Amino acid sequence: MANDEPIYKFERLKSLLKSMGYRIDKAIGYKPLKIEDVDINDIRKNIKFTDKGIFLIDEEDNQERQIFLYKRNYRLTKYGKPSFHIRECQTIQDFINSGTLKSEYRRANTDPVSVKDMDNNMQEVEIRNLPLCKYCMNMALGEYSANMTSADFVEILKRADDSYEEAQNKDIEVDIFGYTKDWTKISLAYRELHEYTCEKCGLHITNPFDQLFMQTHHKNGNKVDNRQSNLQCLCIRCHANIDARHKANFARGGNRITLEDFNTKYPQ
Ligand SMILES: [Zn+2]
Ligand SMILES: [Zn+2]
Ligand SMILES: [Zn+2]
Repeated sequence: MANDEPIYKFERLKSLLKSMGYRIDKAIGYKPLKIEDVDINDIRKNIKFTDKGIFLIDEEDNQERQIFLYKRNYRLTKYGKPSFHIRECQTIQDFINSGTLKSEYRRANTDPVSVKDMDNNMQEVEIRNLPLCKYCMNMALGEYSANMTSADFVEILKRADDSYEEAQNKDIEVDIFGYTKDWTKISLAYRELHEYTCEKCGLHITNPFDQLFMQTHHKNGNKVDNRQSNLQCLCIRCHANIDARHKANFARGGNRITLEDFNTKYPQ
């Protein structure tokens, strides 16, 4: 495995983080799905409603892909476009509760979609930019803008692909100390990966209460560069002595106390 690979791409780290209870978003590639009719049985069998959205369990690759639902038959002339649903809203619940065996809805994750036009001999008509269902919008609690169309939603789905990676590379959120917001878990995972062994002096810490003495250092000094190749698992003594800036940092405050504590417990 290339050493420059971002740390969160490491399979071992991923499973480690998962075992520690962190949710790692899987980067599922966006795949345009064939538009299909949906009846209640389909909903029971392979459609999942969560507070994040509506998902199709794709039998082909067993992935859950986010979709939207819309009315299969519509009076396009009289009522305009049907709205699209992204949550198990009142309307969708009514459909499920109706017990009907008809395929009243269609599922899709693309734009345009097609609708059977009840005002025109049930002809299949291609339509774009369906409006968002108002109930669904309320349920999504401001996650989307009220005038988001189905085309916008599809764009969001496409961009959500590799969202985890993008969050790391692009919209890096930084805390007040200049570390990325997910630094705590990256740092912890990195130290776990190195089994609390200092990469400089080789000291290995087994006592879980002493694991705080093992720290993750950014080699190039850039606190948002969390690539594996830029990280180093160091005991606090090696860390404190790595350069003048660190020496100054560890000469005062809590750092100094922790360092002294360490030097007493683990003399050189
Ligand atoms: Zn809805
Ligand atoms: Zn060390
Ligand atoms: Zn450091």
